[in-house]
Amino acid sequence: MPSLESLHFTNRFTRELPGDTERENRRRQVRQACWSGVNPTPVAAPRLVAHAREVAELLDIEVTTDNEQAFADVFGGNRLLPGMEPFAMCYGGHQFGNWAGQLGDGRAINLGEVINSRGEHWTLQLKGAGPTPYSRTADGLAVMRSSVREFLCSEAMHHLGVPTTRALCLVATGEQVVRDMFYNGNPGPEPGAVVCRVAPSFTRFGNFQIFAARQEIDQLRQLVDFTVRTDFPHLLPPSGPPTAETYAAMFDEVCRRTAAMIVHWMRVGFVHGVMNTDNMSILGLTIDYGPYGWLENVDPDWTPNTTDAQGRRYCFIAQPQIGHWNLLQLANALLPVVGDAKPLEAGLHAYARHFQEGYRRMMADKLGISLMTTDVDDSLVADLWPILAAADIDMTLFFRDLATIKAGDDATADPARFLTAVSSGFYDTEARVAVDRTALGVWLARYQARISAEALPDSIRRDRMNTVNPLYVPRNYLAQLAIDKAEAGDFSRVREMLDVLRWPYTEQPGREEYAAKRPEWARHRAGCSMLSCSS
Ligand code: AMP
Ligand code: MG
Repeated sequence: MPSLESLHFTNRFTRELPGDTERENRRRQVRQACWSGVNPTPVAAPRLVAHAREVAELLDIEVTTDNEQAFADVFGGNRLLPGMEPFAMCYGGHQFGNWAGQLGDGRAINLGEVINSRGEHWTLQLKGAGPTPYSRTADGLAVMRSSVREFLCSEAMHHLGVPTTRALCLVATGEQVVRDMFYNGNPGPEPGAVVCRVAPSFTRFGNFQIFAARQEIDQLRQLVDFTVRTDFPHLLPPSGPPTAETYAAMFDEVCRRTAAMIVHWMRVGFVHGVMNTDNMSILGLTIDYGPYGWLENVDPDWTPNTTDAQGRRYCFIAQPQIGHWNLLQLANALLPVVGDAKPLEAGLHAYARHFQEGYRRMMADKLGISLMTTDVDDSLVADLWPILAAADIDMTLFFRDLATIKAGDDATADPARFLTAVSSGFYDTEARVAVDRTALGVWLARYQARISAEALPDSIRRDRMNTVNPLYVPRNYLAQLAIDKAEAGDFSRVREMLDVLRWPYTEQPGREEYAAKRPEWARHRAGCSMLSCSS
């Protein structure tokens, strides 16, 4: 394994795109530029909390006891390696439906773009490494709490098969950061941390939007051409520069990738929480893990983000439509370069079609039935969500239990009998409201009739279902338990949880606690059911 010093940097973003002419790191509007050069702010005592060895492998590096401190120094922001050219990106975005103007990397600093031994390009980005010209009124820092959440969830998503940015490592800074966790006038110090994120690129819808909003069409075109060259090279014409068709094909692919990503979110019960257009990756990667959450008791209207509790714009069930709305904003931004609205409209239609098709296929896989072609199957799916919501049942455990139901030989089976098969996911609602689970029993009887119509051995169906229905997801309360320890300087639970999440579909004896439904104490504890953007 080569040492850190042998990482090979190419840095196409800063080499090929217009940069900020001012070098001073002061907060301001940055015009006619895709990026501003800015170095990470050194920290007091960087210490490696955890790292993902699979991501290190992508970079052809390895963390050992010998280089662990050097690793923490570099990825805590204290030392630059030869070839690193740190910069923050300029972007804008719609926040909660309103144009917010310039946002930009306010606390993310790209260290550079690595090219590995297989010719792959990976950009390294520190989150929480100090202020940039885009920090507005904030400090550019991140706390342990939110950094543990980002680190664990992005790796969990990867192992779940969901497109995502990756996380190389998590470094404790040895400094305190003041945060008002619930925006309720109670600020307090928290341990600071830095996550090193890794992705082929971090370009967001908002990178294009800012130029369109400012009518900086020359820069917009440069960024679009660069994005085609670097993120979508397979769409380039055999010779010559990109054409109108190339741009249309790029938008079409962004639409398809976004649809595929959101189908995955619905499959695993992920709620992003802040689907602003600045948090949408042009590559269709899940990006910017903030107040995200995982459906525990099924509730289609649930949002983990307290800032969104009123409008529920970004609740679980709204995510597909928000994806469409966000793509429409991207289409508007690309229009000056594409020149014709028609291909962009076609892309948006493709999104809707692609999502619908992908969603039906995904639900068929979750239920272990062949690709749905009948109205009967469609209603089986459509009826399920409200029934699960009414039954107060854990989404993850329900689908694992569903896989244990056997094709029926007894057509007159008592629906109540099926309820026993899925009871491990029932929340103890007695103390709150009486829950009537009769409808769920009836649905399960319909389900048994449906699987009985397929000539598939029960064990094969179960194994197949268990490859798409995870057993382990980074439930908020589990992340919080790891955070509690990490804040006290004990990183063992962060590391253990990362390890469990490496095999989310495989039962891991001895690790049952990581598959347990949310305990009653976590229902209303801060960080377990409610999260703010404060991070
Ligand atoms: P987010 O809601 O995390 O997507 O952030 C929205 C914008 O606020 C982005 O431009 C971030 O870079 C910026 N931002 C969030 N937190 C901070 C912080 N602590 N310091 C500086 N900028 C921040
Ligand atoms: Mg963001």
